[in-house]
Amino acid sequence: MHLFAVFYRVTCRVFLEFSRYTNLLAYFCAPKLYTMATMFDVYPLAPVTITRAQGSYVWDDKGQRYLDMYGGHAVISIGHTHPHWVERIQDQLKQIAFYSNSIRIPIQQEVASILGKLSGHSNYQLFMCNSGAEANENALKLASFHTNRKLVVSFTKAFHGRTSLAVAATDQPAYVAPVNETPFVHFLPFNDVEALENFFQKSGNEVAGVILEGIQGVGGIHEATDVFLQSIRRLCDEHGAVYIADSVQCGYGRTGDFFAHDHAGVAADIYTMAKGMGNGFPVAGIFIAPHIQPRYFMLGTTFGGNPLACAAALAVLEVMDRDQLMQHATAMGLYLKEQLKAIPQIKSIRGRGLMIGFDVPNEFTGMKKRLFEQHKIFTGEAKPEVIRLLPALNISKEEIDMFVAAVKADIASFN
Ligand code: PLP
Repeated sequence: MHLFAVFYRVTCRVFLEFSRYTNLLAYFCAPKLYTMATMFDVYPLAPVTITRAQGSYVWDDKGQRYLDMYGGHAVISIGHTHPHWVERIQDQLKQIAFYSNSIRIPIQQEVASILGKLSGHSNYQLFMCNSGAEANENALKLASFHTNRKLVVSFTKAFHGRTSLAVAATDQPAYVAPVNETPFVHFLPFNDVEALENFFQKSGNEVAGVILEGIQGVGGIHEATDVFLQSIRRLCDEHGAVYIADSVQCGYGRTGDFFAHDHAGVAADIYTMAKGMGNGFPVAGIFIAPHIQPRYFMLGTTFGGNPLACAAALAVLEVMDRDQLMQHATAMGLYLKEQLKAIPQIKSIRGRGLMIGFDVPNEFTGMKKRLFEQHKIFTGEAKPEVIRLLPALNISKEEIDMFVAAVKADIASFN
């Protein structure tokens, strides 16, 4: 018996060592078999690892500071790691992070109340979800439920997200998979009142909803004109269609109005929001006019409106209210535009508040990369060669001056 145990142990040992040896051999001979799982490579990445952030600055793993004029794609509204936001999330985390929408979650009502107050739509209803695409998806679905119709009107250069109907209403063919293609979305030219009127004359009674951004972001910072938005409101009223204001990027106070569309003096039936709503915590929602009636299970989500997301959203609204950030965004936006207009080489400065874009003249192609590499400034871009600025709403004059000085230095380096 004893002999058998020794034999067994030795055999196991030999087997183990042999397999280790062969593993090592295999490791060196066929490394591909032993590589780690990797990320699905869909994002062209800037060569930087951010490890810390505060206000309008981020720091990389080598301690280098960058000015963030991009706000992590319009997401950072009250500044990175704002102390009130951190505190509210931490406090909530200690109480309860998550429970499903099958119970009362009073903090949701707190978000709705302050959202109504700050946006000037205190009679609207809030449905919470998790991302901009999901918000638009729900808005379009709700428009269809409400009207019992199928047609959606969208516009050239629109971007509404990556999910099925949101991406179908997005004017970027490369993002639309064959399964997302639908005959129900019609694209009309942006800001073309006549084309809109003609379409409504022909098919208005089949239109469930019209969706547009108040200022197109991905499309290159193009503002919807007041007369265009007023025409949408009028035609939707005349034909019983739903006006959906995609405020995912241009909303949440970024342009000085809570919702950029409201600049035109007419209200939308549904506002969609995400990005700035959580200052980096994933939270989104749709804000729905009182005449659109809910019914049970019409919309739903597991994570949407969870207590932790609501704490983040509440912190953002409280800081916006306390620090008057919409007024600040208006003032800083005017200042930034003035400074940019004083640079003769920069043309076609567009946008409002802290959603500003300009075309980079051909001779300065690659400005975004140089601002990043040489001046340590993050900016956004739109194709082709548009610099897109989406900083935190509490950016200071000094930080704007730093950015403008960098643009001037970049242009001067070509002389
Ligand atoms: N709508 C607009 C106007 C956007 O800019 C975006 C994102 O950039 C979306 C919708 C989609 O938002 P998300 O990426 O959170 O799904």
